[in-house]
Amino acid sequence: MVAQSESIRPAIRAVHQITTGYVEQHEEHRYGSSKPLMWWVLTSRSWVKAPITAYAFEHRDGLILFDTGVDPALVSDPDYISSPIGRFILNRVFRFHVGPDDALDKKLEAINLDAADVSKVIVSHLHFDHIGGIAHVPQAELLVSEDEWRRLSAPNPERDWILREHIELPGANWQRVEFVPTDDPLLAAFGVCHDFMGDGSMVLLPTPGHSPGSMSMLVRSSGLPPLLFVGDLTYELEPLQNDQVAGIGNAEQLKASFAKVRELQEALPDLVVVPSHDPSASGKLSAALKQH
Ligand SMILES: [Zn+2]
Repeated sequence: MVAQSESIRPAIRAVHQITTGYVEQHEEHRYGSSKPLMWWVLTSRSWVKAPITAYAFEHRDGLILFDTGVDPALVSDPDYISSPIGRFILNRVFRFHVGPDDALDKKLEAINLDAADVSKVIVSHLHFDHIGGIAHVPQAELLVSEDEWRRLSAPNPERDWILREHIELPGANWQRVEFVPTDDPLLAAFGVCHDFMGDGSMVLLPTPGHSPGSMSMLVRSSGLPPLLFVGDLTYELEPLQNDQVAGIGNAEQLKASFAKVRELQEALPDLVVVPSHDPSASGKLSAALKQH
């Protein structure tokens, strides 16, 4: 029997979607509003329910995660958010549907994966609903962009839902990503990338706007359609196509990042764009993975 050579083995064997509970947010938050932020935070009565999703990739060199979801302690522990103002605002901006079984380690176990096997975690950005599972993967390298990490040490990161006490965990192996110039013509809109597996199968791209250092991940492997995980760059695909920005974030940066993603879509017509809180993303991604 001849062993299959590295070169013909697909880089990524499987992609898994992991829903770590659900969140409701105001329509104005999700689709944007001409009203001032504090007006809709305090008065809006319209809620939209969305999943809180992380993703796992069985790469030939290790188990990789894109985000880690929310920590159920956010709901069960009244002191999870230490600042009283933070707790007050949180309950006006979000309604959570998260239980103990939504913890990252349990979700991985349910699909026969072991949190202890995770070698790298791509943290799209530092919001609490993306870093909530990092305590379950202390052995993993946590990749975050340099710009996002800088926000952590600027004044009052908590105001932007960046909770230092749940990020700067003792022993957490945070690694800052530096983007480098690329001559890949497909990535011309971005000009830079970070190929963290070294084989081009999983490439990080800067897509700021939702937060200063938000990044997306392009996945290209034989046996898979091209996939772009965009985190919270947009909450749904349609607003990205229509240049409709959400109620939070930097509108100018968001639109610039949207345009880059649309350029990538033109270059890769079968690209599947996957926003982390899009209720229709799960079905679209499953269908694309099955079809391919
Ligand atoms: Zn976010």
